[in-house]
Amino acid sequence: MTTTQNQAVSQGSAQQGAGMHSVNPATGETFASYDTLSPEQIEERLSRAVVAFESYRLSSFEQRAAWMTRAAEVLEARAQELGELATREMGKTLAAAVAEVKKCASGCRYYAQNAEKFLADEGVVTEAERAYVTYQPLGVVLAVMPWNFPYWQVFRFIGPAIMAGNVGLLKHASNVPGCALAIESVMTEAGFPQGVFQTLLVGSKGVEAILKDDRVRAVSLTGSEGAGRSVAGTAGAAIKPAVMELGGSDPFIVMPSADLELSIKTAVTARTINNGQSCIAAKRFIVHADIYDRFVDGFVAGLAALKLGDPMLEDTDIGPLATPAIRDEVHGLVQDAVQKGAKVLLGGQVPAGQSQLAQGNYYPVTALSELTPEMEVYGEEVFGPVALIFRVADIEGAVKVANATRFGLASSVWTTDKAEQARFVRDIEAGSVFVNSMVASDPRLPFGGVKASGFGRELSRHGIHEFVNTKTVSIGAAPDAHKSKTE
Ligand code: NAP
Repeated sequence: MTTTQNQAVSQGSAQQGAGMHSVNPATGETFASYDTLSPEQIEERLSRAVVAFESYRLSSFEQRAAWMTRAAEVLEARAQELGELATREMGKTLAAAVAEVKKCASGCRYYAQNAEKFLADEGVVTEAERAYVTYQPLGVVLAVMPWNFPYWQVFRFIGPAIMAGNVGLLKHASNVPGCALAIESVMTEAGFPQGVFQTLLVGSKGVEAILKDDRVRAVSLTGSEGAGRSVAGTAGAAIKPAVMELGGSDPFIVMPSADLELSIKTAVTARTINNGQSCIAAKRFIVHADIYDRFVDGFVAGLAALKLGDPMLEDTDIGPLATPAIRDEVHGLVQDAVQKGAKVLLGGQVPAGQSQLAQGNYYPVTALSELTPEMEVYGEEVFGPVALIFRVADIEGAVKVANATRFGLASSVWTTDKAEQARFVRDIEAGSVFVNSMVASDPRLPFGGVKASGFGRELSRHGIHEFVNTKTVSIGAAPDAHKSKTE
């Protein structure tokens, strides 16, 4: 059974075919299907977005903040329902999904309260009678988003972009169409005018034409490196601003002075958060030789204690991976490493037989050591619960291994030595360094990467400045200033 874009999700089993499908990763069951948009329907939504922008851009910050605050209230009221939908579509634990919805509410409130301040005019002293910088919305902004935090990734775009006066079009990942439509419904329920935020159920092949359309002024993509290359290429050719939030292979460095117990506990969470499918999950554990054995024993024991199972159940720590393809890719990387000499400290086998785990896309928590650059895991992002463990002799070695990747998203370093902390802050090639704590996104802090992890920043005042026209206004000028002007 298929539904059109604006109809409610159809429940029960559905025939797999053209369109988009909600498939439960825990069971393999297709529980809802949707028609994708025709070119005419895309055109209709684009036109509606342009019309909406003409009046929305003139709305006051006070009015936008009232709608955004209402969106936060709707999210909180619907947290359980939205959480269950995300769990069914992409497999994260229900507790994590509900917490994600609540985090979206806090992101909405943060921009409702701060957008006006972040975008206030800034006076500049020049020879002119008056000069200032003013920030104006760009227009229709396309958001291409991933499934792993199906709400948070979108709301961290919505908060700044919509509060700045832009209107948004969401092309969400094809495996979370229900979440994509639910987000549009939250915005409608919050009272935003028609066309300010619309979901487009289109596949990735549809992105290029939409982005090339003159009416679309900018794009924000969160996703893989491959998607980033493609979308950034299209945006570059069309000369449109773009923010790229791409993959990561974040280091988690533990030095001898670290609080070992806390670093081990945090390492377990940092690797397995979101079933191991987070861009900022710690993926490479780089441990000083002096504490290597103690750290690894505790870390592997902590990972082994996690419960893999039905993500709807309260006592489950790790649910299934989002799709069979992701599980196969993760296992392929593990097998490649093992064939080339990696040591398996934990896991490494796809569940088989008649168990429930074998029906879904489950992958066991896995830990590998004795890793070498010939192995694919050394350079690739492993998007599943697989910890890669490296032994280093000193801080030089730690920095070298940390930077031996084309990614540069975030990093977590564990040391109480101030000189070592300063060295890591200076030398790690990443968009953030968290010292003695786990990497997390926070509306108050800028978020983004360097190298193949992308460019541009989301969140904080930096995030809201990505999708505005920084307009210079210069009023009148003293005659002397004209004489000396060369440009
Ligand atoms: P993905 O396969 O790259 O998909 C992300 C989005 O891009 C989806 O909407 C997808 O649409 C679309 N897309 C894929 N290829 C495209 C192309 N060639 N042209 C236009 N659009 C394209 O990534 P994912 O599997 O959903 O998410 C996992 C990746 O996202 C990981 O690499 C992770 O590290 C990264 N990520 C980064 C951040 C960050 O903030 N830096 C946050 C979360 C996730 P379809 O679904 O229709 O293919």
